[in-house]
This record gives sequence, C-alpha cells and structure tokens, in this order.
Amino acid sequence: MAKNSMRLTGVRKSYGGLEVIHGIDLDVQEGAFVVFVGPSGCGKSTLLRMIAGLEEVTDGEIAIKGRDVTDLDPSERGIAMVFQSYALYPHMSVRENLGFGLKMARTDSTEIEARVKAASAILKIDHLLDRRPGQLSGGQRQRVAIGRAIVRKPDVFLFDEPLSNLDAELRVSMRIEIARLHRELGNTMIYVTHDQTEAMTLADKIVVLKDGNIEQVGSPREVYEDPANIFVAGFIGSPR
Ligand code: ADP
Ligand code: MG
Repeated sequence: MAKNSMRLTGVRKSYGGLEVIHGIDLDVQEGAFVVFVGPSGCGKSTLLRMIAGLEEVTDGEIAIKGRDVTDLDPSERGIAMVFQSYALYPHMSVRENLGFGLKMARTDSTEIEARVKAASAILKIDHLLDRRPGQLSGGQRQRVAIGRAIVRKPDVFLFDEPLSNLDAELRVSMRIEIARLHRELGNTMIYVTHDQTEAMTLADKIVVLKDGNIEQVGSPREVYEDPANIFVAGFIGSPR
C-alpha cells in the first residue's frame, strides 16, 4: 500500500469569527500530484497557507509523513512553497537566490553548491546562474522560483497558482515542465489553481473546492465522467 504523505483532519479556518474553511479531511499518498481547484475565493490559498504554516489553523490537525506539524514553523515542516509572484531577491544573482534559504539554514557551502548545481540542471537554468532576476524572462524567473524550492529537498512541494502571471503559451510549456519535474523528483506535490485545464492535465487526484468545503476528490477522469454534483459538473466541464 502506498505510504501516506499528508493528512488533514477537520481543518478549519476563521477570520474574525467568519469561518472560510469548514472542516477539511484529506489523505494524500506519497508521491501524488494533488490539485486543489475551485473558483476564486473558495479557500484554496488559505488551505495551502495553513499546510505551509503561513496561516494559523483555527481547528483541526495537519500531519506530514505521520508527524503532527500543526503548530510547527514553516521551516520545520519539510515543505517548500512556490508562489505566484516569484518573490526573488532583485539584488542577488540567480545562484545566490537559489542558495539563500540554505545559507540561512546554515547548510555548508559545498552542499549548497552541489544542490544549486543539481537544481539548475533539472530546470535548465545553468547558463543563467550569474544573472540577476531583472535580466530574466517571466518563464526563467518562475524556474528560479521553483529551483529555490527544489534545493530544499522538501517532502512536499506546495504551489499556489505558479503560472497565472505567465502568458498562455508559456503557461502550457511550464505546465509540461512541472509534470516532468514531478516524474523526475517523485515528491508529493500539492498544486493550487482556478484553471480546470491545468488541474485536469497535471493531477493524479483533483480536490474540487467550493466555499471552503470539498465537493469531490477523485482522478481527473472520475471528476469529469462522474461528477459528484451539478457544481462539479459545471466547473470541470465549463470551457475556459
Ligand atoms: P482562493 O485562493 O481560493 O481564491 P482564499 O483562500 O484566498 O481563496 O480566500 C478564501 C476566503 O477567505 C475568501 O472569502 C477570502 O475573502 C477570505 N480571506 C482570505 N484571507 C483573508 C484574510 N487575511 N482576512 C480575512 N479574510 C480572508
Ligand atoms: Mg488564491
């Protein structure tokens, strides 16, 4: 049986007394590519940010590899997050951007160099290591942002709409890159998008969210061919 990578149990979130995530239960198998999909405002980012430890959980428990991480700092959870805005340091080279998190974690410099080299080879950005973010295209910056996650060797990768700032053509090629990355690295990936096409093409398992609740969990084929309700049918089936 596949090993469990992440488990959410009764996870809730309220902002100022208003509940926006209503008790989410979810099991993620090791190495799965799980996509949270749903309309804007349904709670995808909030849920991901709670998994990352960037947002406090109001109630419930989050476990990663069998360890309760609900009250741990982001750096202690074995996760790495890739954001929609690349958040690269403009005054640092690509090499320094890639290594910065490891340097802060006091990883020794030989190890940093080796991991930066390996990550830049995987992402095909070896030739850009001495450039600054301002000298990169949008797609290249997004690769650097993903590289910063890879060097940390996380148990779980978290992506929050990483492609939504890119133009349509680049979005398709980066989507293919991310799928390749998942095949090569084999890590568990949790990926948030409001784009049904992205969800259908990337996911092993789709989690359809609406108003802070899970409407359905299933393979792309299951949610497409056997939607749990009218909302799922409409959302997954609607053209972009
Ligand atoms: P999504 O990422 O699916 O678009 P979000 O997770 O950003 O949705 O938001 C879910 C709900 O929580 C929305 O109703 C949003 O307005 C609310 N929300 C998100 N962040 C905050 C916050 N910091 N304070 C108050 N309400 C918030
Ligand atoms: Mg969001």
